[in-house]
Amino acid sequence: MRIEEWFREGSRNRERQGNVIKGIRGAPDILPDETGKWQALEAVARDILDRYGYREIRTPIFERTELFVRGIGEGTDIVEKEMYTFEDRGGESLTLRPEATASLMRAYAEHTLGAKSSLTKLYLIGPMFRHERPQSGRFRQFHQIDVEAVGSPGPAVDAEVVALLHHLLEAWGLGGVELHLNSIGDRACRPAYREAFVAYLQDRRDALCPDCHLRLVKNPLRILDCKVEGCRQIAAKAPTIPGYLCEACREHLGKVRSLLDGLKIAYTVNERLVRGLDYYTRTTFEFLNPALGAQNAVAGGGRYDGLAEELGGPPTPSLGFAIGEERILTSLAAQAAPAEAPLTGVYVATVGEVGIELAMTLTQRLRRRGLCAALDLEGRSLKGQMRQANKDRFRYSLILGSEELSRGQVTLKDMLSGAQQEIPLAEADDRLASLPEREIV
Ligand SMILES: [Zn+2]
Ligand SMILES: [Zn+2]
Repeated sequence: MRIEEWFREGSRNRERQGNVIKGIRGAPDILPDETGKWQALEAVARDILDRYGYREIRTPIFERTELFVRGIGEGTDIVEKEMYTFEDRGGESLTLRPEATASLMRAYAEHTLGAKSSLTKLYLIGPMFRHERPQSGRFRQFHQIDVEAVGSPGPAVDAEVVALLHHLLEAWGLGGVELHLNSIGDRACRPAYREAFVAYLQDRRDALCPDCHLRLVKNPLRILDCKVEGCRQIAAKAPTIPGYLCEACREHLGKVRSLLDGLKIAYTVNERLVRGLDYYTRTTFEFLNPALGAQNAVAGGGRYDGLAEELGGPPTPSLGFAIGEERILTSLAAQAAPAEAPLTGVYVATVGEVGIELAMTLTQRLRRRGLCAALDLEGRSLKGQMRQANKDRFRYSLILGSEELSRGQVTLKDMLSGAQQEIPLAEADDRLASLPEREIV
């Protein structure tokens, strides 16, 4: 759209909404009262990922459209219905990333991140974009923590990735989740399975929904993901992959299972847990939260040994998982009410003739000492300042009054107990820096 059109469109929108420009539906603001939860969630993730040797990568939120078409796959809902795709001023087709794996694999190949070691552990945290139907309750901008172990085919990597996700969910306080595990075979054994699967569905074609008729031609395995009741009933009785696994795939799954057994991580082998795309191979897994009802998958992932080649690179066996941060926060909110934030820091108040200069110098010094500190920037009364200090949950206040200052003294007030005492101004910094936050002066 040309910029003039954009302005015209904008003014039309403004008219519709009575001059107030609102945010986009499905792309919520994360307000100051909520950001603490997000920061805490991500801090735990960074800590755990660091312990397992994962390093953060930050890729742009937009890429060439082709990357996602090839990396996610034609015929998928994401590519066909949900991508935010636009032409830039140079006429190139770009897309806001709908997921992270393709971007991460592009960056891995482009910067030869695998040069130092055959196994490279990467993670990415950030917003993803999909044009979801608003009534589905999903977000158009949502956030993921994406974790990928790139470059190694061994089952020990699979087991460690599953153990990492298990550890992470536990660290967040989501201990009650169930692990479902499956193998979806590889290039050697999946064709035979697919044939049997398609033959089964061809016989029941008339009972499938219109979408599944298309899937039957384009990508039959995706019929297993269909939410339509009739399709689900048919899928539930379809032949499953395990019976068709080749020896190598069977061995791989056996090793992953025995390693998880050794780690005492409980799982259920779910023969119907599949990934619809051809580049997915072998291990696939999902953690479910039974407390969440129907849409109860908390996080899931799997091996995708064929993706790098799909993107034009050399074979790069890899696996990983993605976690929706909104989903985790919803799960946590369903469990427990968050505690009220503790009182912290110091509010520097002034009375009467005392100028802001002294208060500002003192406040700045306290901040440099590592304290959370504030002062009144708006010339309010002492009463107004104390009200603000309470509202902002300060643990102490330091009151600068002209009479006390003439004696070199200031008043230290404990906002929790209300107790006050005079202390020498010269000692105020040291005194405040050493005060325990929860104890009474
Ligand atoms: Zn269907
Ligand atoms: Zn196989």
